[in-house]
Amino acid sequence: MGTFGEAHADDTYLGELCIGWPRGLHLLLKAGYRLDTQELLVYALHFGYLESVVVLLNDGNPAIHGTHLWVASRSSNTEAFELVARALAERRRKLQKLAERHLPPSICESLGLPINCALDSRATLVFSTLQDHGIPIDPSLFLDQLWDGDTVYNVSYDRRSAEILFNAGFQDFEEGEIGMEQTQEDFEEGEIGMEQNEEDFEEGEIGMQQNQGMSTLMRVADPDSYPFYTSLHNTLKVMGFLISKGANPHRQRVEDRQTASHILGSWLSHSLRESVVFELRNMNSLTVYQPIARANSSQVRAAVFEVFRTLRSEIDRETGDILKDFFLSYHCDSCSCACSENGCFPSTMFFRELITWTDSPPNIQALAETIRFLSEQRRVGSVEAFHDTIAPTVLRVCIFEHLELTHTCCKEIPHAFFGKPKLADIMEDFLHIRDEQRYLIEEVDNLTDFFLSKYREIGLGLPEFLLEYWSIEIQKVPAPDPQEVEAIKRVGVILDE
Ligand SMILES: [Zn+2]
Ligand SMILES: [Zn+2]
Repeated sequence: MGTFGEAHADDTYLGELCIGWPRGLHLLLKAGYRLDTQELLVYALHFGYLESVVVLLNDGNPAIHGTHLWVASRSSNTEAFELVARALAERRRKLQKLAERHLPPSICESLGLPINCALDSRATLVFSTLQDHGIPIDPSLFLDQLWDGDTVYNVSYDRRSAEILFNAGFQDFEEGEIGMEQTQEDFEEGEIGMEQNEEDFEEGEIGMQQNQGMSTLMRVADPDSYPFYTSLHNTLKVMGFLISKGANPHRQRVEDRQTASHILGSWLSHSLRESVVFELRNMNSLTVYQPIARANSSQVRAAVFEVFRTLRSEIDRETGDILKDFFLSYHCDSCSCACSENGCFPSTMFFRELITWTDSPPNIQALAETIRFLSEQRRVGSVEAFHDTIAPTVLRVCIFEHLELTHTCCKEIPHAFFGKPKLADIMEDFLHIRDEQRYLIEEVDNLTDFFLSKYREIGLGLPEFLLEYWSIEIQKVPAPDPQEVEAIKRVGVILDE
């Protein structure tokens, strides 16, 4: 007999041998062998041994992690996913019961526990609150880091998996205001343990408090919260499913008045960029650093065209409706920056990222190609009306980037709500930058008015206007005063620190 560790390793090896033999697995577990049931569950799901999955869930009672859901969602057998989703929902219900039984009613109320459905994104908060109160928690209810304030729908590989999760009981879309109001008030009163938050940020952990105002739909639309890779198509399909089940795409987060569409904006652009980079590498059959910056405009155009050729075949009624809603949305967030007139629209977020794919100068070829593709989508209405709707947003962000202004909007506060002390610092820097750049800001306003009236007068489509008129005429606008640019950059450096 070796050391304890070796004996454990031997047992796990024994378990691996039995993974295709559920009866044997059952006997080993009943006999008290110390098997690594979490690891074995991954194997069983991966190889599709459903009976072993059942044995492991019932006799081994392991905690269910994001990896389990993800492996199951990729299995050709949907039964595997159903088994894990149901078991996870059951564990989440147990966790909630534990909270309701042992925590004071006022704390339970502040947790915003769902009624008649399974805990989703709030599970991390419930778990840590139970821990803080010294309440013992069964290991089968443990949450791994992947669940840190995240939704199960971010692990669902596709719409079918989302449906299974919904049927298993994950129906809390966090549409309620409790979490949000609490966040807002508590930050003001300094009650949510600011120190703890600060520490979390310093240690690089994702503080769950920062995401409290997020709805499930926002989380799904948020690329940074993805523990696993997913495609744009799947994101849109899962969003479509959640909306069909009552998730509200227009719900605004209290902190910054952003909607799920705002958050989707950055992801849309990010996802397109990744595809274009991939395509450029394919076309050039080599691995180059910064392929977009190095490619010439016709190569970029060809790559963007190729990406859209694939996307075109994927867009159906449901995803088309989401895109339409996205591009035609007039919800403004609470940002104040010359890149938008009165706060960012969801489309501002998208176009702003899109033209800075190559840093500067703005990539007008990619932008024009994207607008062409979007205009072809029947669901956005007539081509002219669509161009007219997005023209003010597009022209403004192009001019903003051309004049090299510094953003004082959510582009500089990456998707997160950093807690009041830090946010206050950022806001102060923003005020300072806006003051320094007030002449450039005026210039953005004037040039936007000028080019918008030209756009209306000339009567070209927006992509043609950008390529054939804007690109040429904007070169005649004198470059910003170098001294002023220096001053701006100094302020920018302070902000980056
Ligand atoms: Zn901005
Ligand atoms: Zn914004």
